[in-house]
Amino acid sequence: MKMPILGAFKAPKNDEHRVGLLQTIHAPMKRFDREDEVDYVIVGVGSAGGVLLQRLARAGFKVVGMEAGPFWDTERDWVSDESGSHKLYWTEPRVTGGTDPLALGANNSGQGVGGGSVHWAAFSPRLHPSDFEVYTRDGVGADWPIDYADILPYYEQLELEMPVSGPAYYPWGHPHGYPYGPHPTGGVGNALIKGCTALRIPVSIGGPVAILAGSHGDRPHCIYRGFCIQGCKVGAKASTLVTHVPDALRNGAEIRDRCMVSRIELGKDGRACGVYYFDREGDEQFQRAKAVIVAGYAIESPRLLLSSATKGHEGGLANSSGTVGKYLMAQAGNVVLGRFEQPVRMYKAPPAHALTEEFYETNPKNDFARGFAIQTVAPLPIAFGKQMVAARKAWGWGLRREMMDYNHWASFGLLGEILPWADNTVTLAEDKDRFGLRVAHVTFNLHDNDKKLIAAAKKKTEEVMWAAGATTVVQESRYAHLVGGCRMGSDPETSVVDRFGRSHDVANLFVCDGSVFPTQGSANPGLTIQALAARTADYLISQGDRVFTSDIRDMTEPKIRRQLAPPETWGKGVPRLK
Ligand SMILES: Cc1cc2nc3c(=O)[nH]c(=O)nc-3n(C[C@H](O)[C@H](O)[C@H](O)COP(=O)(O)OP(=O)(O)OC[C@H]3O[C@@H](n4cnc5c(N)ncnc54)[C@H](O)[C@@H]3O)c2cc1C
Ligand code: SF4
Repeated sequence: MKMPILGAFKAPKNDEHRVGLLQTIHAPMKRFDREDEVDYVIVGVGSAGGVLLQRLARAGFKVVGMEAGPFWDTERDWVSDESGSHKLYWTEPRVTGGTDPLALGANNSGQGVGGGSVHWAAFSPRLHPSDFEVYTRDGVGADWPIDYADILPYYEQLELEMPVSGPAYYPWGHPHGYPYGPHPTGGVGNALIKGCTALRIPVSIGGPVAILAGSHGDRPHCIYRGFCIQGCKVGAKASTLVTHVPDALRNGAEIRDRCMVSRIELGKDGRACGVYYFDREGDEQFQRAKAVIVAGYAIESPRLLLSSATKGHEGGLANSSGTVGKYLMAQAGNVVLGRFEQPVRMYKAPPAHALTEEFYETNPKNDFARGFAIQTVAPLPIAFGKQMVAARKAWGWGLRREMMDYNHWASFGLLGEILPWADNTVTLAEDKDRFGLRVAHVTFNLHDNDKKLIAAAKKKTEEVMWAAGATTVVQESRYAHLVGGCRMGSDPETSVVDRFGRSHDVANLFVCDGSVFPTQGSANPGLTIQALAARTADYLISQGDRVFTSDIRDMTEPKIRRQLAPPETWGKGVPRLK
């Protein structure tokens, strides 16, 4: 008799680390001696950290990724069950406040190798060219120190590396096509198409989403069962855990999981010389490094810089401008739910598979600047139940009745651009975590432009839901996708890092993650975060040893190194790119 496919029900072997149904990393990985001075230490192996680790290892640097959470063996650790997946999130204590406090935890950052890319829905649109010059065009927000042309080659690279499935022609921003064909639509996608078509709103179907529409290397294709934000045990959804980390390890990177970095240390020369961290036993250790890259997410990166205050940097590292922790952004993420007479069964597809960016840009007819997108959301039953509690005040028997009706509901999310404001901040609270470190205090306030934009976006999303044929429409207010807090800019007086992620104050200290965004557009941020990480990596590689020895800033654009992409990714897919 033939072996059942994949040797079904076989437990993982001791010398293997499974990161998907078919994908195996052969353990053990490289381990540097505790006394070794490595070239780079990266704090956080998430969306950005995973790409950086892979690129720097492939270029031959000695690199260690410190990750506060576990290194998932997906066969052993994950379940395809909504209530069993909470450990994927950063659930350590944080304090929230302001006039419009953000819900922290499951709605924002991840923990564990892969970070937020493990539980993201994998929507992967690009920012638009206008996003890089919001201040110049609209007199609000800020301009980026780079423009769309600088990041374009990295978008193209990452769309192949993840890879991203989507339509052959995507009409918004800088029109382009996707390397892999689109996914078939599920019930909620059909509802979005129906509503948009009735209102003559163009809609993108089947992507862009970083989920495999066909098998790819040692990763199988999507099986449309809807557990994407629970991690995707199948391995069809891109996360750096399955896309970049295996290649990083094959090329000699070390990941030290369950290691929480507590502070960045400066040497007598004023340059970063390593990081203190609590190892998995809870003991404090020091890792020496020639350069440090912080990639801990929009909340933890500013927290670490502020916690690393030292003589000469009393307000926190890289904070001579006073902007560390400021200009934090979240996107408006209201969910609009509609009930249909016919079953929708929104669990039967990846939640992310159709969207419109028709309202993305500033429209002079509006009384607000910038815009929004409308996307499929498709929560699983527990999330749906929570939304019904919020949207309909359902409780007890009423909630039970709503939940039994789950199959008849569709949900769309609006994604609205909230502008960067100085009073939206990450600061240090007096409360301490289990390591004795002060936790982040997140303050969030909506401003006039934000409120008007959210009201208009909500109205339009509800119109689309009615036009799709819903008989009841309700909504829940919420926010998504935190970015900012260590913004990049050309002026050291108003920004934390330069356009390559190098801190203005300490020449061998870099920040590379969503925290460096000066504005956020209304595109989901994950693709841009990974593209920026690939660009920072190219810069570091082009600088070679100079990063370790010199304070001189060479602002020459780096050469684009496509050969550093994980093998079998560059040049694959439907050949639509030059
Ligand atoms: C439910 C959900 C759905 C989402 N869907 C989408 C989507 O469809 N498309 C999209 O583009 N985006 C989506 N996002 C957002 C996306 O996941 C994040 O924007 C992105 O992962 C952030 O990347 P990052 O590199 O900044 O941080 P992360 O990916 O969060 O990585 C940071 C890592 O650093 C580690 N870390 C932090 N501090 C320390 C420390 N002191 N020591 C050691 N390690 C540390 C953390 O444990 C974490 O692993 C979604 C988010 C959520 C919550
Ligand atoms: S729907 Fe596809 S991408 Fe999502 S969890 Fe299932 S197999 Fe993974």
